[in-house]
Amino acid sequence: LTEKLQNVFRNLRSKGRLTEDDVKEAMKEIKRALLAADVNFKVVKGFIKNVQERAIGQDVMNGLNPGQMVIKIVNEELIALMGSETTEIKLQPGSAITVIMMAGLQGAGKTTTTAKLAGKYKLKGKKPLLVACDVYRPAAIKQLQVNGEKQGVEVFSMGDSHRPADIARAALEHARKNGNNLVILDTAGRLHIDEDMMAELQEIKETVEVHQTILVIDAMTGQDAVNVAEEFNQKIGIDGVIVTKLDGDTRGGAALSVKAVTGKPILYVGMGEKLSDLEQFYPDRMASRILGMGDVLTLIEKAGAEIDEEKAKEMTRKMKKNQFDFDDFLESTKQMKKMGGLSGIMSMLPGMGAMGGLGGKKGMQLDDSQAEEAEKKMARMEAMIYSMTPAERRDPDLLNPSRKHRIAKGAGVDISEVNRMVKQFNEMKKMMKMIGKGGKKGKFRLPF
Ligand code: GDP
Ligand code: MG
Repeated sequence: LTEKLQNVFRNLRSKGRLTEDDVKEAMKEIKRALLAADVNFKVVKGFIKNVQERAIGQDVMNGLNPGQMVIKIVNEELIALMGSETTEIKLQPGSAITVIMMAGLQGAGKTTTTAKLAGKYKLKGKKPLLVACDVYRPAAIKQLQVNGEKQGVEVFSMGDSHRPADIARAALEHARKNGNNLVILDTAGRLHIDEDMMAELQEIKETVEVHQTILVIDAMTGQDAVNVAEEFNQKIGIDGVIVTKLDGDTRGGAALSVKAVTGKPILYVGMGEKLSDLEQFYPDRMASRILGMGDVLTLIEKAGAEIDEEKAKEMTRKMKKNQFDFDDFLESTKQMKKMGGLSGIMSMLPGMGAMGGLGGKKGMQLDDSQAEEAEKKMARMEAMIYSMTPAERRDPDLLNPSRKHRIAKGAGVDISEVNRMVKQFNEMKKMMKMIGKGGKKGKFRLPF
């Protein structure tokens, strides 16, 4: 998907001015790409309509060319489509027990995800109890026990001769006695949606108070995943969705459509078979991933980065007076991260090339290993700054050899690296002073 969209955007960008026909042509391509990626048909239709209306009606923002404007709109609409915000699983307040029921088709990843969630919440200080409500396959109970043990959380099971609803009830009693405050019911799936499965889930819901019903869907099932989500939501009501197997060769369309079709947010995404492979779902990051980081970031850069206005002014003032210090530098790295990640931005900064030894061309693209290398270099720079005293951060001139030595030790780097960083910082400062003088009021451009 990403590759196809990038082609579309490359074409758009190469144009100076866009006609309505250009936009329509681009929309056709985007539509094709989304459909090919298994995005739900109705969702695609609505999406294209929104983008097109906005793209044609809107004034082009300052600093963007029309092609970039379209990309900006596509990005915003993609994020909106996925729900804009990160959603947490709603837990009961205080020490009250939260009951989560996992639902989904067979093989979707319920049992694995149950154990993944347990690990996450254990880290957050919860005391989970996993409940084996899949009584149709003996292997399913065993699987939950094995995974629970790996995560160091308790698993409740009553074998395979009880009704799931009764197991759930008994598990809740057990939880009350044992002080478990998070009960996760791992239920049975079927190969297809059927009445028995739904009735069983209903019965559990009628027997114990389920606070959150979480649907687990397999991203690899494409269009089907969304139909499944719609049906589960209608029949038993769901509170949120976890999309699994996004690590594989999946086209990701399911993740794009779920919110639009069911109105329910994606909570987490499964990124692998390991029990640590569960990630919070960030609509904006997903959109960036779909569009390809580079495009989105070029855009941000061109639009003159929406950075916290007050801080920007302060920085500009300091730049002009040549007072930019290491604290400001840390602040600017924070702002960069806020703008969607470091490596992509770095690839557009001429100064960074020299810092990372990555070649100093402006706008060069980093491949994955280079990006990783750049992130590491950046992290080391941050570590060095954190190893400075507040006085040193405010006044880089204080840095004599013995102080540098201490900093190198504190950050776990070689002293030559500290020297290099200080030198680069000073060069940057000089450059910023020049930029600062010519800079526009209130607008902040990255100082590199
Ligand atoms: P259930 O039938 O819904 O309980 O599904 P399982 O939890 O047993 O998972 C079915 C298969 O999918 C297992 O082999 C899991 O290891 C695998 N699986 C689950 N989640 C993920 C994921 O996020 N990525 C990958 N690659 N595999 C997953
Ligand atoms: Mg299972």
